[in-house]
Amino acid sequence: MRHRLLVPLLFLLASCASPYATRQPPAPSPAPAPPAPAPSPTAPTPVTPPTTSGDMVFDAWASDFYPRAIKAGIRPEVLQREMAGLTPDPRVAALDSRQPEFSKPLSEYIKGVVTPTRDAIGGRKRVEVPQLDFIEVTYGVPREVLLGVWAMESGFGAIQGDFDVVRSMATLAAQGRRRGFAEGELIAALKIIQSGEATRAQLKGSWAGAMGQTQFIPSSFLAMAVDGDLDGKRDIWNSPADALASAANLLSKGGWRSGESWAREVAVPADFDWSLSEGPRLTPADWAAKGVVRADGLPFNAADQAAPAQLVAPTGANGPIFLLFPNHFAIRKYNNSVAYALAVGMLADRFSGMGPLVRPWPQETPLSLADRMTAQRALAALGYDAGGSDGLVGIKTRAALRQWQKARGLTADGYLSAAMVQRLTLEAQAPAPGPTPAPPPAAPEAATPPRPTAPGPQ
Ligand code: CA
Repeated sequence: MRHRLLVPLLFLLASCASPYATRQPPAPSPAPAPPAPAPSPTAPTPVTPPTTSGDMVFDAWASDFYPRAIKAGIRPEVLQREMAGLTPDPRVAALDSRQPEFSKPLSEYIKGVVTPTRDAIGGRKRVEVPQLDFIEVTYGVPREVLLGVWAMESGFGAIQGDFDVVRSMATLAAQGRRRGFAEGELIAALKIIQSGEATRAQLKGSWAGAMGQTQFIPSSFLAMAVDGDLDGKRDIWNSPADALASAANLLSKGGWRSGESWAREVAVPADFDWSLSEGPRLTPADWAAKGVVRADGLPFNAADQAAPAQLVAPTGANGPIFLLFPNHFAIRKYNNSVAYALAVGMLADRFSGMGPLVRPWPQETPLSLADRMTAQRALAALGYDAGGSDGLVGIKTRAALRQWQKARGLTADGYLSAAMVQRLTLEAQAPAPGPTPAPPPAAPEAATPPRPTAPGPQ
């Protein structure tokens, strides 16, 4: 799996567009060599000189890392060659610690990635990659979904990232916040180089280690990349067929169900029980019994009728509402973000010639980190378990919000709008009900002050 869940969505675009190109050049990797036998367990551990980057934290980590890498099967000469002269990349460290003040609303994100330009390119690419017939038959994943992944990950191969993946992973590992992940990926990258499958110079990617046209981290490359153009090599950097077949393989292994949709837009009755949102996975017939029907009024296809689907309203009761089929969750094996999977699916629908959503995305007010943390603290103060106050509005926060909304007679869609933040804040600040003093009146929904807009693409 790709484990991009470790990379906040906000960094998604930045991670695809990284013009880093100035590291100290490592010794170039030699031409592919036949793999040497792994060191015998009885062989003495070679003494490896530590990296001397001049950065004490980095060098201390590198000295610690050497024996772990050798134990993991990296040959000492490969380790020494690839780590020699390595220095931490300050840009990677800065990107990893960046915490934007405002989160980008989902509707803005979708509008920014599902664009007419991409629609037009995807339409052309459907017929430009000759191996797509073979890939569809082999993996059972429609080409439009693969093109959606391709568009999202690298703009159809145009923006793959130019960070030296070995240096990026070493930087993250030394920094320590994500050491386990970064060391695992560093070892995977060294294994790729050691096997001769790709050179160090080829191992370029995003600052977070995602490589090639479909942005696989090194461990995903080792486990999931396949040869789509049947030339005997897995080249996700230069071969669209290899990249798309690798994405199809990942989705297939992630549970893709051939013939089923990824999601369908639905309409719900006015008295819909919103506690079912993000809840049970029911068949469309079970949903129909609760008044949920396709927004376009059409029937579900035969395959979808047998599939368990979860209802979500990502921008609240006033925005588009979806039944998410198992294929949505397969896309999230690629990148565990609802927004990402929605974007891939909506691009795929566009490439298939489907029209726009029946209900458009609403205008959303960006919430600051402080807003989100304040709302979480207010929920906790009012007796609802929001799962902490880290400012990340996850499933627990939304469930707590639904309970609070329901108890207050509000539409319990679990959507944290600016109005909800204000209302929660006022209620949490209000003195406990008692003879004195009288609680202030509830804030009107329309009293939301204007807020700064979100910065451009993160
Ligand atoms: Ca190939």
